[in-house]
Amino acid sequence: MAVNEYMQKTEDNLVHTYNRFPVTFERGEGVYLYDTDGKKYLDFAAGIAVSGLGYAHEELNSALKEQVDKLLHTSNLYYNTTCGRAADALRRVSGMGRVFFTNSGTEAIEGALKAARKYAWKKNNGRYEYIAMSNSFHGRSMGALSVTEHEPYRTPFEPLIPGVKFAEFNNLDSVKALVNEKTCAIILEPLQGEGGINAATKEFMEGIRKICDEEEILMICDEIQCGMARTGAMFAWQGYGVRPDIMAMAKAIGSGVPVGAFAVTEEVAEFSLEPGDHGTTYGGNPFVCAAVAKTIEIYEKTDMTGHVRETGAYLAGELKKLSETCGDILEIRGTGLIQGIRLKEPVGGVIKKALSEGLVLISARSDVIRLVPPLIIEKEHVDEMISVLKRILAD
Ligand SMILES: *Cc1c(COP(=O)(O)O)cnc(C)c1O
Repeated sequence: MAVNEYMQKTEDNLVHTYNRFPVTFERGEGVYLYDTDGKKYLDFAAGIAVSGLGYAHEELNSALKEQVDKLLHTSNLYYNTTCGRAADALRRVSGMGRVFFTNSGTEAIEGALKAARKYAWKKNNGRYEYIAMSNSFHGRSMGALSVTEHEPYRTPFEPLIPGVKFAEFNNLDSVKALVNEKTCAIILEPLQGEGGINAATKEFMEGIRKICDEEEILMICDEIQCGMARTGAMFAWQGYGVRPDIMAMAKAIGSGVPVGAFAVTEEVAEFSLEPGDHGTTYGGNPFVCAAVAKTIEIYEKTDMTGHVRETGAYLAGELKKLSETCGDILEIRGTGLIQGIRLKEPVGGVIKKALSEGLVLISARSDVIRLVPPLIIEKEHVDEMISVLKRILAD
């Protein structure tokens, strides 16, 4: 098929919910993608922070191929061989108590919100309200959207679920002002991705933990984008020394195989969801769990968190140098391999230009370039990215 035909077929047949860039990717290798013309692109987006192991990862792919030939699906009416392994691995790296597998990040958030309400219901404490944060993003289903603070996403779908209040991210007093005897959970991303790459301060994370402990409120961390070693800790909250009661994961946990999960402490597990309360047909099937178990195995044996801390520090340093020579850059912010470049103007033009020059970038809100490369990048890839970006910003 000619290149334009792939694009035309997509446009003609799908509901028009995405503004796509005019490129059709066909294959990937390491940190590079190739389009249908064979043009090579350096990838600093990783399919929106998903492909942590990059592309065509031999060990991951052979584990997946092996599982495809063994068994794809069973449903949750039965046990399977990989589900327990994947859950055990997630528990080991998170220190959480129990895991529930979902099919996406949004669904992990739905489950987390339900687990919190069920906990309050079981404790019979009369709590049902959620406190969420300004600039948050948790997904687009009705529950996840209800805790997402971005008017354009919300307005056409109102009324959303009742009992949600928004505090100002990194302003503990604004959280305290909303806490009352009805608050059942506080939900936040330790590092906001979609909202513009904003890291929580240590005081904020610690303060929220303290409020939750004092008031019988559950702390929910959305680690969907900032988790899985992206900040240099396996989960971003670990970098703060503050443990949530419930956490949501997705994106990189399956390295591109669509899978999410939420995890709860033993205490929440004991007083929360029971058989019949929640479920999913695909969730935690043999195939996706083979991806999760293998992903974590590879992260552990290659010391992925150490690698991210090293390359992330190098990336941050090079971005800082770039910002000193480039007047368009207002701020560099982020942790590890999730970095944002805030520009004076909307970044759409820069991103389009980069794509045409073989560099894949994405934005976070209109004025931030979001850098979330495959975690396997090396310093030479950072140098390559910086040289392209420097040239574009100089134009
Ligand atoms: C991507 C994302 C979600 C939604 O995950 P999906 O897999 O797209 O449903 C939720 N929260 C955060 C922080 C995300 O980055």
